[in-house]
Amino acid sequence: MDVVVLGAGPVGLMAAMMLAGDGHRVTVLERDGAPVPDASGDELWRGWHRPGVNQFRHPHLLLPAVLRTLSAELPDVERELETRGAVRTNLLDGPRRFGQAGARLPGDERFAMMTARRPLLEAALDQVATGCDRLELRRGTTVAALLPGHERVPLRPHVRGVLTRDGEAVHADLVVDASGRNSAVGRMLRDLGAPGPLEERAEDGFLAYTRYFRSADGSVPEMPPAHSAHYACVSTVATAGDAGVWSLSVGISSRDRALRALARPDAWHRAVALLPQVAHLAAYGEPVTDVMAMSGMESRHRAFVVDGAPVATGVLSIGDAWATTNPLFGLGLSMGALHAVALRDLLRTGVHDDPEKLALSFAQTTESTLGPVRRGLADWDRHRLAEIDALRAAVPTVYDTDDHTWHVRRALDTLKFRDPDLLRAYAAGAALLTGPGARLPDAELAARIARFGLRPPYGEPGPTRTELLAAIGV
Ligand SMILES: Cc1cc2nc3c(=O)[nH]c(=O)nc-3n(C[C@H](O)[C@H](O)[C@H](O)COP(=O)(O)OP(=O)(O)OC[C@H]3O[C@@H](n4cnc5c(N)ncnc54)[C@H](O)[C@@H]3O)c2cc1C
Repeated sequence: MDVVVLGAGPVGLMAAMMLAGDGHRVTVLERDGAPVPDASGDELWRGWHRPGVNQFRHPHLLLPAVLRTLSAELPDVERELETRGAVRTNLLDGPRRFGQAGARLPGDERFAMMTARRPLLEAALDQVATGCDRLELRRGTTVAALLPGHERVPLRPHVRGVLTRDGEAVHADLVVDASGRNSAVGRMLRDLGAPGPLEERAEDGFLAYTRYFRSADGSVPEMPPAHSAHYACVSTVATAGDAGVWSLSVGISSRDRALRALARPDAWHRAVALLPQVAHLAAYGEPVTDVMAMSGMESRHRAFVVDGAPVATGVLSIGDAWATTNPLFGLGLSMGALHAVALRDLLRTGVHDDPEKLALSFAQTTESTLGPVRRGLADWDRHRLAEIDALRAAVPTVYDTDDHTWHVRRALDTLKFRDPDLLRAYAAGAALLTGPGARLPDAELAARIARFGLRPPYGEPGPTRTELLAAIGV
């Protein structure tokens, strides 16, 4: 089968390599034209012009589902990452250093992960993809429109390829949209007369303010016991990178205008100094970037089957083009990797001979593989924003809800270091583990949490909002 993949981001390249590995002829079209620099470390990080991905220089955790997928499906990429300096670690290494994980248990290797800055990940993927048989990667080629074919479902366009901005028609049996969170495929489908996907986008989300650091002697500070921590009105994500670099991001509600002062380096440092788990990360070493702001971090989702019918046939969306989730959880690449596997596996069943069945089956498999994760994260966002709103009110209150899931997740966050099984339940969520025995059953999880009698407000010990605002001079 001839496949065109829109976008050479991580998910587009992972999918392209898996499909080429199965014998399909794959063409990847990528808008950004800059060649991948023949460099590593900082030179690669600074030198690669990549305007197509806003978060290119923002921190990225390669959580266990990414490594699991690479090990199983694309071992050359795993090797290339390591050769280029990605660091192997384990979700439980942090807690273990702080004496909170107990001994290593059989099975803990399922929490293995890697850390590297994103340009290194993309360079490793590019290196392996360009050496792949049956895979052509064309950078500097923007897809401008979809080519219509003969309808397979009444009143729904069938896509038989793409038209580039230069007017070149690239024909395909299947178009895979991996063009990221701002995918224009919905608009392109509407141009063909399709209703377009049903798009859900949360009104609000989070903003992040990130700074990278390095020490003069190349040493790295102890990373905190967990990557992320949620304080009263801010969350933090600490990420080790390659080449002795680490980063710290402070996430706030996009509704919280006062805390946008964190964009100023002086305010950022004064706020971070108050956050017990991560203060040392900004005091050790020297900043190697300014405070970098990232907005537009709302959860989004595009549904391509509406009222039981596909909005089009011959085109499927994967990765961020299908859904984006809160980056504070660092699960975008994990979800994208599993999505690419799900697509490859579905095509192995031969269902692509029937474009309508393919569209319906892919929607179904997407929903069963990733739907609960996406919805769980979107629900978390909604509650967390409301929790922060309650603290921002003229008379601050404690946020409460009858959504039991929120209480379980938030309590698990707070209690994960107090019970090794709860820690592993937390890690199993971050590793997107499924299947028998992968996670504690919900009832058991709830019962264990209940033993601690925890009540809202949840959160790490740290400054109140008033203390935070006073420190940053607002
Ligand atoms: C601040 C931030 C931090 C994050 N941190 C993490 C993390 O720690 N861990 C994690 O797993 N995830 C993280 N994510 C999420 C992660 O960045 C995304 O999930 C991931 O980039 C999705 O990959 P993708 O290939 O689907 O899309 P993208 O990476 O967005 O790639 C899309 C590609 O398509 C190209 N393109 C777009 N339009 C066209 C067109 N018309 N023609 C041709 N090419 C086109 C673009 O140039 C781009 O190269 C983070 C996100 C943000 C915003």
